[in-house]
Amino acid sequence: MKKTDAVIIGFGKGGKTLAGALAAAGRNVIMVEKSDKMYGGTCINVACIPTKSLVHSAALAHVYDDGQLEARRTRYSEAIEEKNRLTAMLRAKNYHKLADHPNITVLTGTAAFEDDHHVSVETDNGQEIIEADQIFINTGARPFVPPIPGLKESRFSYLSETLLDLDMLPEHLVIIGGGYIGMEFASMYTNFGSQVTVIQDGPVFLPREDEEIAGAVLQSLKDRGVNVLLQAKTSQVKDTERHAILTVETPEGVQEINADAILIATGRRPNIEGLHPEKAGIQLTERGAIAADEHLQTNVPHIWAMGDVVGGLQFTYISLDDFRIVKSAILGDGSRTTQNRGAVPYSVFLDPPFSRAGLTEKEARDKGYHVKIAKLAAAAIPKAQVLQKPVGLLKAVIDADTNEILGAHLFCEESYEMINTIKVAMDAHLPYTYLRDTIYTHPTMSEAFNDLFASV
Ligand SMILES: Cc1cc2nc3c(=O)[nH]c(=O)nc-3n(C[C@H](O)[C@H](O)[C@H](O)COP(=O)(O)OP(=O)(O)OC[C@H]3O[C@@H](n4cnc5c(N)ncnc54)[C@H](O)[C@@H]3O)c2cc1C
Repeated sequence: MKKTDAVIIGFGKGGKTLAGALAAAGRNVIMVEKSDKMYGGTCINVACIPTKSLVHSAALAHVYDDGQLEARRTRYSEAIEEKNRLTAMLRAKNYHKLADHPNITVLTGTAAFEDDHHVSVETDNGQEIIEADQIFINTGARPFVPPIPGLKESRFSYLSETLLDLDMLPEHLVIIGGGYIGMEFASMYTNFGSQVTVIQDGPVFLPREDEEIAGAVLQSLKDRGVNVLLQAKTSQVKDTERHAILTVETPEGVQEINADAILIATGRRPNIEGLHPEKAGIQLTERGAIAADEHLQTNVPHIWAMGDVVGGLQFTYISLDDFRIVKSAILGDGSRTTQNRGAVPYSVFLDPPFSRAGLTEKEARDKGYHVKIAKLAAAAIPKAQVLQKPVGLLKAVIDADTNEILGAHLFCEESYEMINTIKVAMDAHLPYTYLRDTIYTHPTMSEAFNDLFASV
């Protein structure tokens, strides 16, 4: 049996950063990661970084290989190779950052609770038992696969992580699920030159987003050739030699759609598979996440949880912020909590990208705010014209009583950078007039805030 001060289960963003902080504070740490292909976690291996590497290559394919099928196929295979090179480099870097530290041991194997101080780890060399004073759960999320007959068994079905390894450009990609991950893949594969169909069961496209902005995103995807089916239900999938046939029920009737790749993008659930948190007496939420308070402490006082497994927003930077909260609880004064994260921005890496922070107009009105609205077409931004991407719409929701920004919805080039300025303005309680009247460099996308907020 190994004894240690802290065991961290899962090499995710929160866990690996905490490992470094605890080790620097002189604690002995064991990091348990179930796969040697996952050192560094989901983000760098199979999610944020590889998808954004491909989004970038796809944008180049769209500009340089338009209409040239062979060139696009070659660029796609090269893009997958480049993505593999990048992830392998980051994986090795992440591994050594922890493994080379004298206070940290990286143990490759699958962890499960034995009781509230003991974790068993199944490794290639047999089982190890670890006794730890403190335990941190950072096991991420896993994809949800809907029970559609034939889907799981189809040779043409992929999850986001397995599609990233397909080095032949699909001719027709069908995406089941109209959420953010599905949309990123739709945008990316359209740029690479695949025909793309998105099947969404609900009647409203991006139902949580501002109606006007969601409408602009949908129109842009359609203009780029993406076929989006709303209120559509896949009832079965059957394989033939060369492709799968999806039977899809739509308001217009039943359709049969051929696909040489199907992406299952129907959400990700907290990952507690095989972890047996009940053996440590850890409570779960109704939705199967690890239940944790605002300090991310579970009901067992020496066990904490971070990242997707807690069941909140699924972003790498939330897992990183969870690390700050746990560090504050363990090594600091506990003042950092999930209640004082400030505005949480996010971006969906479409072409152009969509980014958001704060409330939609409807949410603000429903909460009883008196609102003022700012709006600007992306075509009015000089830099959007310079980039030859005059597509999109910017919208901000302002509290008419205080002039503070309640929300911003930016569907335009480089919105993933711009939204961070909005976050800072919201957290600092700046009036919108500050962003309206301040100096920005030119020509940049950020200077659009002058005109956006002048439109109030
Ligand atoms: C396709 C895709 C694109 C995304 N793009 C973005 C993006 O652009 N920006 C963004 O911020 N977020 C993005 N996300 C979300 C982001 O990847 C996750 O929110 C983030 O990686 C979660 O990190 P985590 O710290 O919770 O754990 P993870 O990084 O998921 O790490 C969990 C680790 O635990 C290991 N593990 C699980 N169970 C056990 C066990 N029993 N024993 C040992 N090890 C175990 C796993 O192998 C894994 O390595 C994307 C997600 C997907 C799927």
